Amino acid sequence: MAVVRKSWPGQGDDSARELKLDPNTYKPHFAYYVIISWSLYKTSRMSNFQERIAAELGFSLPKPEEAKRVCRHCNKREPENPTAEQKLKVCSRCRDALYCSRECQSADWKQRHKFQCPIEALGTNTYLDTVPTQEEAMNRLIDAYRLRVEDDCMYRGECHGLYGEPRNPVLDFRSFLNLAQNKTGVLPKWWNAEKRRICEERAVDKTKWSCIHYTVEKPDIQEHYNDNMMPMTLRMLAEQVYGHGME
Ligand SMILES: [Zn+2]
Ligand SMILES: [Zn+2]
Repeated sequence: MAVVRKSWPGQGDDSARELKLDPNTYKPHFAYYVIISWSLYKTSRMSNFQERIAAELGFSLPKPEEAKRVCRHCNKREPENPTAEQKLKVCSRCRDALYCSRECQSADWKQRHKFQCPIEALGTNTYLDTVPTQEEAMNRLIDAYRLRVEDDCMYRGECHGLYGEPRNPVLDFRSFLNLAQNKTGVLPKWWNAEKRRICEERAVDKTKWSCIHYTVEKPDIQEHYNDNMMPMTLRMLAEQVYGHGME
């Protein structure tokens, strides 16, 4: 088990916490791209973190100059003062990955980027726009909230929502949405008062898996989404809303 410290961009030292990576369940190439996407936040602390985690996983990180304006797939570098045609195109979902051509983009999508894109989209505040349907985006928002309620009570002793005294999941979820609405880029572009109403209805619908009246733990999320990375993705999403991580 590799144990490294993580601190989240824009936060003080108190947001540093341990991120445990189990090599048996963790996909190393994916971890590598998570690190690269975090290079968006070019703070010295983050780059130390990236170097350490890369070393733990046996990768070497590209030097900052090399990481600039290069096609993700064929490594072709964008020339200085590029013409419109030479200019690398950015992935329209995550607004982060660069490509020299459609061919490179679609080859990289199949090989890797369909896994990286959601994580990178969190870095560029477009995550919920990358989710295929509005219903699914609402589910992920609800599940990000549910996992955070669990984490807060389990690891920080801050029991709210389902675990609050008094028990108030509906009010607590509404304040989560209020916070989300006040942060730029957390909620998808289509979000409005009507979508919020629908989302609040879904959140209390006990026929749905993503319901704020049910507890949820990390393994449940992994199983439900069939994705071992989903708890981390949802925790990052909740962190964007609440503005601080778990300590
Ligand atoms: Zn290319
Ligand atoms: Zn992308």
